[in-house]
Amino acid sequence: MARAINFSAGPAALPEDVLKEAAAEMLDWHGSGQSVMEMSHRGKEFMSIAAAAEADLRELLAIPANYKVLFLQGGATLQFEMIPMNLLAGKTSADYVHTGEWAKKAIKEAKTFCQVNTVASAEDQKFTYAPAQADWKLNSDAAYVHYTANETIGGVEFQWVPNTGNVPLICDMSSNILSRPVDVSKYGMIYAGAQKNIGPAGLTIVIVREDLIGKGSPTPPTMLDYKTHAENESMYNTPPTYGIYIAGLVFKWLKKQGGLAAMEKRNIEKAAVLYDYLDQSSFFQNPVRKQDRSRMNVPFTLKNAELDEEFLKGAKARGMVQLKGHRSVGGMRASIYNAMSLEGVKTLVDYMKEFEKNHG
Ligand SMILES: *Cc1c(COP(=O)(O)O)cnc(C)c1O
Repeated sequence: MARAINFSAGPAALPEDVLKEAAAEMLDWHGSGQSVMEMSHRGKEFMSIAAAAEADLRELLAIPANYKVLFLQGGATLQFEMIPMNLLAGKTSADYVHTGEWAKKAIKEAKTFCQVNTVASAEDQKFTYAPAQADWKLNSDAAYVHYTANETIGGVEFQWVPNTGNVPLICDMSSNILSRPVDVSKYGMIYAGAQKNIGPAGLTIVIVREDLIGKGSPTPPTMLDYKTHAENESMYNTPPTYGIYIAGLVFKWLKKQGGLAAMEKRNIEKAAVLYDYLDQSSFFQNPVRKQDRSRMNVPFTLKNAELDEEFLKGAKARGMVQLKGHRSVGGMRASIYNAMSLEGVKTLVDYMKEFEKNHG
């Protein structure tokens, strides 16, 4: 069977080259006579895989030396709790920017640990824009400022990096990490679940400035303390070894594509093909303010929702899957992460044109 053109929001499509390489190495990794899944995480083979993955990620994102890279588990969702546990550092409040479904979940968890100041919110316009920095009411005594760089469900992305002065900026980058270059030094911490734009589910990447580690008060439980993982090279317990291996292959693939500047160029081009078509269509519509539109997740609705099922059926017949929108918003959503090709997006737009002609 031919590979589907997969628009899933996550777990999402991976580069075919990576899957082929993993398949070729499945039974015998580099002459070791073992699958990576069967290796001791403390053996020299796996240690070299993990070290290469970290080095390549550091190179791709130009991560400064005073930041730790942690390979954790529990998803971005566990970070919603680990962040206040570790980063309040004795303070009693934190600033959060409310931009939609994922920000809402981060806020909910933080509220069990501290006073949450919602310093900006896009709720007044159904989360269809990114609140401008000038409208953020930041508090100088907040422990940190948290925002969601890309709202995966709403399709809203910050095209700029907030400035929070001396208060550490914490970012949920789950669905747009590695889609463009990022100045890591502007952040206290960046985190991302792997299954959107990095690799398989089960791995969470945390990039955290060293001076923020080990300040949790009260001291968090061992497994929930960044210090534990920082001091043990993410090997305090058994890490998600296969996920780290696949992520490492994705990092090598990204380097081969020309790195994140090249990926950004490609992602801009891909997103433009879809948005340009949406903007001139009288049948399909995207609700997000133009300058805040996500390059990764493109939600859109049909003029007549009764045609949704027919649209999805026709897409499937053309090899395109996972276009159904999130259950909370309905409609459609095309997730076009790094692994989605320009041809894949063009195939979708050609189908949309045809559908509009027949039903518009
Ligand atoms: C998917 C997603 C999450 C949740 O990730 P899990 O790995 O399922 O916990 C959090 N934030 C954003 C922006 C996401 O896209």
